[in-house]
Amino acid sequence: MFLWWSNELTAQKFSAEICTWKDDKAAAVSITFDDASYSQYEYAYPVLSKYGFKATFSLVGEWTKEQATYSAEPGYFEIKKMGWQQIRQLHKAGNEIASHGYRHRRYDRRLPLDTLAKQMKRNKTLIEQQTGDTCYTIHYPYSFANKKTALAARKAGFSFGRTGGDSCNKPIPDNLLLLKSRAILNDTTPNLSGFEKWLAQAHGKWLILMYHHLFPKGSKEMRILEYHKVRNTYSLYPATFDKQMQMLAQKNYWVAPVKDVGKYIVEREAVKLKTHRCFGRYVIKLQSKLDKVYDDPLTIRVKLPWQKVKVNIGGKEKIYSNTKGEILLEALPGNKIIIKKKK
Ligand SMILES: [Zn+2]
Repeated sequence: MFLWWSNELTAQKFSAEICTWKDDKAAAVSITFDDASYSQYEYAYPVLSKYGFKATFSLVGEWTKEQATYSAEPGYFEIKKMGWQQIRQLHKAGNEIASHGYRHRRYDRRLPLDTLAKQMKRNKTLIEQQTGDTCYTIHYPYSFANKKTALAARKAGFSFGRTGGDSCNKPIPDNLLLLKSRAILNDTTPNLSGFEKWLAQAHGKWLILMYHHLFPKGSKEMRILEYHKVRNTYSLYPATFDKQMQMLAQKNYWVAPVKDVGKYIVEREAVKLKTHRCFGRYVIKLQSKLDKVYDDPLTIRVKLPWQKVKVNIGGKEKIYSNTKGEILLEALPGNKIIIKKKK
């Protein structure tokens, strides 16, 4: 009996690793919106709810009143914007509220770092007062950002920043405050096969989609845009958005707000797994270098030769059936996992 045990233990059938993406999904996708257009609340929110997706909505402070109101940029027609009433509802439903600047203007890189940070902090503070939650993410107005802008954003207290770049982010992005995104330019750019290609290219990576307005066919807004022959309308039909989300739902991808994916990456890179086996138990420690611990669990893939196991994570016990030779566990940085064979 003893020999059989030791053979089993030396057979290297035990291993543990942190999955690149939550729930061991094949990629991460964040759906992000800019300008807090009321059309996002009216048309995108119901579609997102239908597929169980949570998104990141960014707002411009000076455009946001208590009720929904119309506002415009110079030389542009007025578009209805969400009020705090709609914003708070989206936040309560689990969506992320991000900053898009107190004013919808490029951050001036010539300004001193402190001044830039102060400008950025204004909208962050406003959002935090209105939602009662931390505002982690900034969508730079016009995606205008460089290393200095990113430094200022960090100084202002942001953890994640989104720019343009028209590509995916690597599993370990170069700079979490200069995340790349792909913009939906109009109803057919990308078209559905182009969108499918974007999703295919996202495999193993983190794709951030950038949306603006959703106006129905024949609506006043779409007719104005057509009349002025605007090519990049940053607007699409609600029916097209639904089709895109349907395509996304068919993928084995993790769809989550920017802050959730960003936090997962920060945790993943700060945690080292320390494993050891003793007396028929397999112990995994999530050693963390993080000073602040987020409350988002990491997914740990554990390969085991045992059929049925009793798992204790941070004091809570659960029984797992191990039918595929591996189990997926959720644990926080700092947690200890103890796995015992169950007869
Ligand atoms: Zn914008």
